Amino acid sequence: MRTFVLPDTEVLAERARAAFDRCGVERPREVEGASGAARSPITGQELFGLEYDTEESTDRAIAEAQEAFAAWRDTPAPVRGRLVHRLGELLREHKADLAALVTIEAGKVGSEALGEVQEMIDICDLAVGMSRQLYGRTMPSERPGHRLMETWHPLGVVGVITAFNFPVAVWSWNTCVALVCGDTVVWKPSELTPLTALACHGLLMRAAADVGAPLGVHRVVLGGREVGEVLVEDRRVALLSATGSTAMGRAVAPKVAARMGRYLLELGGNNAAVVAPSADLDLVVRGSVFAAAGTAGQRCTTLRRLIVHEDVVEEVGRRIVDAYKQLRDRIGDPFEESTLVGPLVGERGHAAMRAALERAQADGGEVLVGGDRCFAEEAADAYYVEPAVVRMPGQTEVVREETFAPILYVMAYRTLEEAVQMHNDVPQGLSSAIFTQDQAEAERFLSSAGSDCGIVNVNIGTSGAEIGGAFGGEKDTGGGRESGSDAWKTYMRRATNTVNYGGGLPLAQGVRFL
Ligand code: NAD
Repeated sequence: MRTFVLPDTEVLAERARAAFDRCGVERPREVEGASGAARSPITGQELFGLEYDTEESTDRAIAEAQEAFAAWRDTPAPVRGRLVHRLGELLREHKADLAALVTIEAGKVGSEALGEVQEMIDICDLAVGMSRQLYGRTMPSERPGHRLMETWHPLGVVGVITAFNFPVAVWSWNTCVALVCGDTVVWKPSELTPLTALACHGLLMRAAADVGAPLGVHRVVLGGREVGEVLVEDRRVALLSATGSTAMGRAVAPKVAARMGRYLLELGGNNAAVVAPSADLDLVVRGSVFAAAGTAGQRCTTLRRLIVHEDVVEEVGRRIVDAYKQLRDRIGDPFEESTLVGPLVGERGHAAMRAALERAQADGGEVLVGGDRCFAEEAADAYYVEPAVVRMPGQTEVVREETFAPILYVMAYRTLEEAVQMHNDVPQGLSSAIFTQDQAEAERFLSSAGSDCGIVNVNIGTSGAEIGGAFGGEKDTGGGRESGSDAWKTYMRRATNTVNYGGGLPLAQGVRFL
């Protein structure tokens, strides 16, 4: 285990302030004894106090976004695209500054933090293209002299609630697409990542000023679930896009449905890879270690279950354990270049990991490697852990739950049918993979009788999706789709139009009246 020198929290706070200055964005107002705070999981300590929004100020933010909607809706979509284009330019310019904030608040290692900002840049490019491609269809009308077509229109105010683990990418998937669709946005970021949110909002406001867009197209409100609930309950929020735990989705969905609002849910995952006997085991090991231990197991798409054919399960287990042993020296301060595994976001994640490991052992599981807390003496308030691999005799209840920490359960299977059955026998349905050289097996996994997830991969891990495809999952993951493909349709309303240019008034289905 390497030595660990606890970074100075004040140095982290200064680094955050400097990032704001370089972005040309106003620094957050630091308030002692405030209702909220910015913190860093690197030290587990408070950087500085920040005032949270209240019901009144959230109400005001929604009103401002609604007012801006009237003008934004009437702005031609390709002109709306200019705002997102300018945002993309600013994100490119300030990629390192935003990545530093992601590391400070979410604890992500450098290359993953930069990757998250790159994802924002990519979605800007995609959304600018979309702004000229919000296609409606024209269908043949059954009536002579009539045209039948669909047109797409902006929805209104979109409320965006995000989780701590992708503090900015998920916001950008929603916001860039919503903005080109003509919606305005009120964002409530995770209470754990207010600084990245304020910096992104500031850059978007700079972009809006540069292109002459109304500033009310985007508002940010800070706080926890109470502030989120204001967005959930408000009828002016036409679409609520919420990313977080399944428990959060269960609380939010019925409230939005009760007011006949729309919701888009991106919730927990419990992702698995099936490893067939023909699999290239080098790929399996590399793909699994990144997917399971990367981001300290705190991705919605993190690999949590490895379902391995009994002929290769021992070898796969051994090789993954060897790779995990090499990770031991790469756990620590995410600002250090050699670090691959940063901290858990907080005590809650660590407690959940401990409890899950105890339950797995009580179920007959054997911890093959990892699971211990590191640097508890040097960093009493921070939670660094060794990613764990646990050999399980079967898929017990604890394996079927999402524990938001780096635990990889390894289980054996005999037939592909059994593997698919185990794979699908969890409440969640986000991401999945099969490693195989057998094309027929791969096709069966991809077929409707195969994986029941929203993301199904072959010969790559479960994490690290590209923005070009629609992102999301089934069952307890919530059913929402964001980002690329035709996910933009969720942010718009569809009108079916019939235009009579023929002069007569024939009724459909041959009905006669008067
Ligand atoms: P969380 O559920 O604790 O919080 C998510 C967000 O919801 C936060 O902004 C929080 O303040 C808000 N919130 C919580 N309860 C609310 C309520 N009743 N009303 C309104 N807002 C409420 O999740 P987290 O710990 O920040 O993130 C981890 C979870 O998010 C994991 O389960 C992970 O799988 C999931 N996640 C899913 C995706 C996806 O795309 N499917 C992406 C990222 C994270």
